Amino acid sequence: MISPVLPTYARVNLEFERGEGCWLVTTDGRRYLDFTAGIAVNVLGHANPYLVAALTEQAQKLWHTSNLFRIKGGERLAQRLTEATFADTVFFTNSGAEALECAIKMARKYQYVAGNAERARIITFEGAFHGRTLATIAAGGNAKYLEGFGPEMPGFDQVPFGDIEAVKAAIGPETGGILLEPVQGEGGVRVPPPSFLTALRALCDQHGLLLILDEVQSGVGRTGKLFAHEWAGITPDIMAVAKGIGGGFPMGACLATEEAAKGMTLGTHGSTYGGNPLAMAVGNAVLDKVLDPAFLEHVRMMSLRFTQLLAEVKDRHPNVIAEVRGQGLLMGLRAQGPAAELVLALREEGLLAPGAGDNVVRLLPPLVVSEEEVGIAVQKIEAACRRIEDGMAAAPVKGAAE
Ligand SMILES: *Cc1c(COP(=O)(O)O)cnc(C)c1O
Repeated sequence: MISPVLPTYARVNLEFERGEGCWLVTTDGRRYLDFTAGIAVNVLGHANPYLVAALTEQAQKLWHTSNLFRIKGGERLAQRLTEATFADTVFFTNSGAEALECAIKMARKYQYVAGNAERARIITFEGAFHGRTLATIAAGGNAKYLEGFGPEMPGFDQVPFGDIEAVKAAIGPETGGILLEPVQGEGGVRVPPPSFLTALRALCDQHGLLLILDEVQSGVGRTGKLFAHEWAGITPDIMAVAKGIGGGFPMGACLATEEAAKGMTLGTHGSTYGGNPLAMAVGNAVLDKVLDPAFLEHVRMMSLRFTQLLAEVKDRHPNVIAEVRGQGLLMGLRAQGPAAELVLALREEGLLAPGAGDNVVRLLPPLVVSEEEVGIAVQKIEAACRRIEDGMAAAPVKGAAE
């Protein structure tokens, strides 16, 4: 019999009662160090008093009105986001996929109003993840997510990630833009060289294409800059944001330059909930913290420390960890054995970390993680490695040389 909750997730049998900063506490009182953070969402940790205050204060005044009326919190958040980024304008959504939908529509419309209606195709990359709507599964190109869902939405041309020659070869008379994650998250924490983004920016300028970045996972301080593309010293034309931007409240945003947004005139797009007063109150509160230069400095310091310690763990356990990769606090461990085995061993040691493509386990702590908590996480990772090695000793791999 089907479960009342549509069974599309293989859920871990853990139920949490509350969160405290970087920790989650189960209903039976066990404490887990949470380096899943809602999949890079809870940037300020769980039950952050500042966010709780912002949410409850707004909750007592007004939750929802609709975009038929002015929303002061949204005007303020959009103003602050445009001041902090390349963007001139912002559309608020409820999720990452919706932010991408807005970005894709905007790019097509831009070319359309420029008299290039045929330039509706967008170049995307292997290993990408852009969400689960019909357009975003087509953009992501993952066959597993497309299978059985009928005609694939046309308009995406996929090339290998990091391959600039393949991008050049894919640009045709119908190409209107290039869409990518500056660091692939779900694809396995794949960080391209900074020169890749620079080269893509140059190609876009040369061919009149829009550079669309999906910073749903890499944005809002995750990599130690407000947005990951800042490391490469380039700016996009359009950018999709979500996850961290609401600190756990469901929200997203599509940011754009005035030029890129010029087709999005009255009535061309909308959302019932997007940017409602409750979401905007939390979004502004998240930004209060993340825009503090000391906040990003903290992320970079914790990243440095974490990276160093992880490299030592890898050196001690080369038969468990093949590679440490990532940027800022968007880190990954590529496993030698199945990544799922490492995820399980980590959980048994009390550390929650999500898997990813490319046989990688992601490490995505809340960005407020302390040096002490980084140390505890590393001890747990070390213990998980030993646990796996003990398993190997108990059951030697068939055919292994002894
Ligand atoms: C999670 C994610 C999305 C989809 O966000 P949803 O809020 O689940 O719709 C899109 N792009 C990237 C890079 C993501 O990590």
